[in-house]
Amino acid sequence: MRILLTNDDGIFAPGLAALERALKSLGDVSVVAPSTEQSGVGHAITFLTPLTAKEVFDGDRRRGWAVDGSPADAVKLGITEFCPTRPDLVVSGINAGLNAGINVLYSGTVAAAIEGAFFGITSLAVSLEWDEHANFDRAAEIGLDVIRGLLARRPAAGSLFNINIPTRSLTGPVDLRVVPMSVARYGEAFERRVDPRGRAYYWATNEPPPPPSPHESDVTALAAGKVTLTPLDYDLTHRGGLDDLAAGPWKIG
Ligand code: MN
Repeated sequence: MRILLTNDDGIFAPGLAALERALKSLGDVSVVAPSTEQSGVGHAITFLTPLTAKEVFDGDRRRGWAVDGSPADAVKLGITEFCPTRPDLVVSGINAGLNAGINVLYSGTVAAAIEGAFFGITSLAVSLEWDEHANFDRAAEIGLDVIRGLLARRPAAGSLFNINIPTRSLTGPVDLRVVPMSVARYGEAFERRVDPRGRAYYWATNEPPPPPSPHESDVTALAAGKVTLTPLDYDLTHRGGLDDLAAGPWKIG
């Protein structure tokens, strides 16, 4: 199996290195990742300026291709230019920080996986709760188990999955929950400060957290210490609205 591995924390991120070591047990891994951190850039792409990339080495060890662009750029270039053959799997991560709830839509990590799915390649994102001393190797073991389980189910080509791992699950038994993405709003507050020239500036506090919900979601399951698996789809069409709108009447022009 040929695997394209990317992330949004940059090619030198420890989460990517840990996942690369784990994924080698599944097949050949090609690393194509942003040269610098691109967290929170969502599905941005580079098209107004040329995209540059270079091979990077750690002594004699080849780390992969570093792309001066977004995670989606890295996947596009990886599939079309750098992978020796078309990959069978695109993996993005391990991100330093969860990608759950509506943060999925801001996430560069998830966007890279979505880009892989655009190509019709089964793709997944793996994220670990933020911790300065994160144990990415243990998270990679857990992620690999989930990936093996998914592949054993023979998902349709182009399937897309989001995996999140809370810190609490790294020690002790692992409980996997298959849950939908929460759509609760959070992170709405800004702190207003004043710079040395008297100008106001604003800093997002990412608080308050989403309100408690009786419906189980990735956010509630992660808060309970569960590893979460969410099948995703990038088709934003609201299908329930199609028939009503199509029925008209419309008077245009
Ligand atoms: Mn990130």
